Amino acid sequence: SAISCNDIEKIQVLGHGNGGTVYKVRHKRTSQVYALKVVHGDTDPLVRRQVFREMEILRRTDSPYVVQCHGIYEKSFGDIAILMEYMDMGTLDSVLRQKGTFSESKLAHVARQVLSGLNYLHAHKIIHRDIKPSNLLVNQKMEVKISDFGVSKIMCRTLDACNSYVGTCAYMSPERFDPDTYGGNYNGYAGDIWSLGLTLLELYLGYFPLLSPGQRPDWATLMCAICFGDPPSLPENASEKFRSFIECCLQKESSKRWTTTQLLSHPFLLQGSEA
Ligand code: ATP
Ligand code: MG
Repeated sequence: SAISCNDIEKIQVLGHGNGGTVYKVRHKRTSQVYALKVVHGDTDPLVRRQVFREMEILRRTDSPYVVQCHGIYEKSFGDIAILMEYMDMGTLDSVLRQKGTFSESKLAHVARQVLSGLNYLHAHKIIHRDIKPSNLLVNQKMEVKISDFGVSKIMCRTLDACNSYVGTCAYMSPERFDPDTYGGNYNGYAGDIWSLGLTLLELYLGYFPLLSPGQRPDWATLMCAICFGDPPSLPENASEKFRSFIECCLQKESSKRWTTTQLLSHPFLLQGSEA
């Protein structure tokens, strides 16, 4: 990746994240379009630490299901910048808002790709910890890729418990709130599966499944819903295979939750792959 930052021009702002701005940019010589995430020097140290962690993970990953990194610039465009592949449909969250809820066959297509990405990450001892519709990017080809590694964890030791409160608590698994009750053989990877289950449910229903309409998404309300409530499930009119798939993702006890490998051979994903 020998793209010099001098060869890049900004086209427009794509969005603002926590401490940074993402631009649509063009490589002047080739006209190739990319996304550039810029974090300015005056942002707080915690955010900077997250950006460095994200850089470290993007440097190590090479999967068609994880957003690709084409370059990292440490003293240009403000302070730190990450050049990524441009995903022209934005996030699954914006697709939901623009195009409405997803059919089961579309969700099978989404689930297959996100699970392939998680399978790759988990095999490389990386836990994402912030899987949600707004961190999954899509392009016109309906390719779905995992992005946003700001709060991810690289597991160094097998017993490294990672139960600090990072990420959006709405999609956090029961064992991250209460490892004693739901942790079982706690290793952290299963938390990504819970978040994927909630994400798919939200894309099917069109609303966040743990809150009733109008309910304030504060920490205590969510914690109660996640730890004391029954896990959310699909309505009766969903297919048996889809209902079973969601149930395998949303087991409250983390050791009962299926792994990426098990889920990739679940009957829901084995049906025709037309999107
Ligand atoms: P948070 O900091 O809470 O995770 P965020 O996910 O919105 O917020 P960013 O990852 O900085 O923050 O991304 C901001 C927005 O930029 C995204 O919501 C998305 O719309 C857009 N974006 C990010 N990366 C890309 C990309 N590779 N291609 C196209 N759009 C992108
Ligand atoms: Mg994000």
